[in-house]
Amino acid sequence: MKVLLTNDDGIEAEGLRRLAEAFRERHETAVVAPDRERSAVSHAVTLRRRLRPVRLPGPDLAWSLDGTPADCVKLAVHVLLPWRPDFVVSGVNRGLNVGIDVLYSGTVAGALEGTAQGVPSIAVSVEAFRPPDFRPAARFARALAESLEACGLPRGAALNVNFPARDPAQILGALWTRQVGSLFRDTFRVETDEAGRPGYCLEGEINAVGSLEPGSDAWAVREGYVSVTPLGIDLTSCGLLREIRDSLPSLGSLRKSFDGA
Ligand code: MN
Repeated sequence: MKVLLTNDDGIEAEGLRRLAEAFRERHETAVVAPDRERSAVSHAVTLRRRLRPVRLPGPDLAWSLDGTPADCVKLAVHVLLPWRPDFVVSGVNRGLNVGIDVLYSGTVAGALEGTAQGVPSIAVSVEAFRPPDFRPAARFARALAESLEACGLPRGAALNVNFPARDPAQILGALWTRQVGSLFRDTFRVETDEAGRPGYCLEGEINAVGSLEPGSDAWAVREGYVSVTPLGIDLTSCGLLREIRDSLPSLGSLRKSFDGA
């Protein structure tokens, strides 16, 4: 396979290096990643400024880019790569991307951008209470991509993989999961500057982990499984659309709000 790798921890990150090592063994591998850490930039793209890729020496086709993960995938697919990738893999991120954090994640956005370009894509993250071993997650991502080689992924889908911080021998297996809830409660640390003006730093506290819903991504990781969640670039919730159509007033009655004076 021809595989494009990216991340949001930056081109120098160990997780990306481990991912490249795993894929290079068996596949044609290219890397296009941000030149610095761009965690939590979500699906941002760079407008009104030139992106300047820098070609890097080494065993893979590789560029660093002064942009976001989504920029990296777009430029790779449309400009940099001499071939169209069969897969985009984003990671291995240092830290989980489960629950609401999926919305902020640059790692997940890298994969979703691959999907938006019509390429099946996988995001991979590892739990990181202490410096994690990225290699098991990198090998799992490769095996997952290989297992999908024949059938691909449904149109518009990406897979979000989260790996527990355990010795691989203690990992119970892999489960299909749902993205659910939040692991964190938002808190702000207040810091006052020399002029006495308050500034606020987002910190967050871990929520009561006992209340995690079975079948969710965070629950699976806590129980010792690799969590694999299908995500879609279409954010419409079909379940909510049904519920809202059934329970809320028809929007037809709002016609008169813009009708005439
Ligand atoms: Mn990150």
